Amino acid sequence: MSNLQNPIFTDETKAREWLEARVWPNGPVCPHCGNADQDKITGLKGKAHRPGLYQCAECREQFTVTVKTVFERSKIPLTKWLAALFLMTASKKGISAHQVHRMLGISYKSTWFLMHRLREAMRVGGLLPPMGETGGAVEVDETFIGRMQGVKKGRAGAAHKNTVLSLLDRETGQVRSFHVANTTADEILPVVRANLAKEANLMTDQARVYQKLGAEYQHDTVNHQEDEYVRREGDKVITTNTIESYFSVFKRGMRGTYQHCSEKHLHRYLAEFDFRHNNRVALGVNDSERAVTLAKGITGKRLTYRRPNGKGSATPN
Ligand SMILES: [Zn+2]
Repeated sequence: MSNLQNPIFTDETKAREWLEARVWPNGPVCPHCGNADQDKITGLKGKAHRPGLYQCAECREQFTVTVKTVFERSKIPLTKWLAALFLMTASKKGISAHQVHRMLGISYKSTWFLMHRLREAMRVGGLLPPMGETGGAVEVDETFIGRMQGVKKGRAGAAHKNTVLSLLDRETGQVRSFHVANTTADEILPVVRANLAKEANLMTDQARVYQKLGAEYQHDTVNHQEDEYVRREGDKVITTNTIESYFSVFKRGMRGTYQHCSEKHLHRYLAEFDFRHNNRVALGVNDSERAVTLAKGITGKRLTYRRPNGKGSATPN
């Protein structure tokens, strides 16, 4: 599905039917009240209604497949949304808004908003199970993303760098990344504790911040200062190389594709790179399956996509 010849990218009805089948595998669900009883949901047909409109007999509200999703109230055709969704999930290192804008023929501004909404759909919401529950290795490390928009050349000192904290479960291959304010214990430790099972084998470098966790977890460190990157103890491989190779993919992508990422959007780019990593080919996820996973993720995120100033959501136009 890497080509854009599929009718779902040109035919609005086909696009809607494709999305409905992914979001509602067991038939329509009312997004207003949660009613999924197919006897109490009616498809409204005829010229009086816009296509894909349903009526819920439970709460009497009407809805389409995009209501209360990241696609809601968008004027962008669904065919373009799906094309952008497939482009973003298929490109390993990410794709720039400029490139998607040129490929889809919609305005740059609309493309930018559309892509941020898709990143929001990639965000894993809610409470996640802690990592390393079976006692496996979880690598934890932090990295810095610098030179954000608004930072003048030569002034991109430490104060302007953004800290990213990531946990990588080596058994499941899953990664979780967080934009934190700095590398102090107050910032780092609550995130690690909230995401790490008591049974986990924590692996870090020798940064002092992690030493406090030695009393709570099985904790092994590698000494980068002494050029130690991998140490074997019996069957155990002590390293943070896996998380560091993840950081290098992220940094290359940020440098090459997203030069103009501003600080307040960093968590969304992190969501995008985490999503692709957690749904990658090496874990048995192909391009089509990755796109379907993202399509399913469009629900339940709408309410979180609010501007911090409370002036409502950013809407493409
Ligand atoms: Zn309802």
